[in-house]
Amino acid sequence: MIRMENIRKWYNANTKHEVRAVEEVNLTIAKNSFVVLKGPSGSGKTTLLNIIGTLDRPTTGKVFINEEEITAFSDIALSVLRREKIGFIFQDFMLIPRLPSWENVSYPLIPVGIGTKERFKRAKTLLDMMDLGERVTHTPEELSGGQQQRVAIARALINNPGIIIADEPTSNIDEETCVKLMNTLIELKNRGATIVVAAHDPRFKEIADETFTMRNGRLQ
Ligand code: ADP
Ligand code: ADP
Repeated sequence: MIRMENIRKWYNANTKHEVRAVEEVNLTIAKNSFVVLKGPSGSGKTTLLNIIGTLDRPTTGKVFINEEEITAFSDIALSVLRREKIGFIFQDFMLIPRLPSWENVSYPLIPVGIGTKERFKRAKTLLDMMDLGERVTHTPEELSGGQQQRVAIARALINNPGIIIADEPTSNIDEETCVKLMNTLIELKNRGATIVVAAHDPRFKEIADETFTMRNGRLQ
């Protein structure tokens, strides 16, 4: 279970550029649920996802994962937690430009100390699943937007994470890839993962257990 208590995120607090991106958010996400965050651009969805995904810290408030207060963790402890438990699919993919697909996908396994052969094997399995078995040695620059998206999904899944976070995952892909992505997320949920997605796409509402709407940094 993920629990957020009185989360507030102010960027550049107390300066001329202060932005109150998230205000007093209280949110509980049950284990093994599929949750969708919607709301207009700039309403704070990405900020909230980054906080859930431990990529950013709230200005005030607490986040708990399975009753552990992760906002009290050190940066090192958070990176271990991310590596072991969280898969993040970024809006702009965040692939490393000159690395082949398989290396992008298996990159998170390097700090875990898994050897090259095994990394290749696991990456290949996921790339096959994403219909990219023929693109394992291609670099992101040699792939279409939809293909890059699928490489990013494969990378998010490499550690078999219990929590999968996706930020507008369908904004850059075609219809067919979109349906595939939705089916993949449903399948991951059925295998026990908790899924948190920020999306405008109304089809997510149909597959979600719960949909929350953000407006001006607040959860409606
Ligand atoms: P959404 O994902 O709903 O579009 P964001 O969380 O990206 O919303 O943005 C919420 C608000 O926070 C916006 O006003 C945005 O300009 C601001 N913001 C987001 N990231 C940063 C940042 N790194 N520094 C300063 N302001 C930011
Ligand atoms: P999609 O239907 O996934 O958007 P495209 O029609 O854009 O695919 O691309 C068709 C093929 O061309 C893909 O197999 C892809 O590998 C290749 N391709 C697309 N963009 C590039 C690029 N910038 N450099 C090299 N190959 C590319």
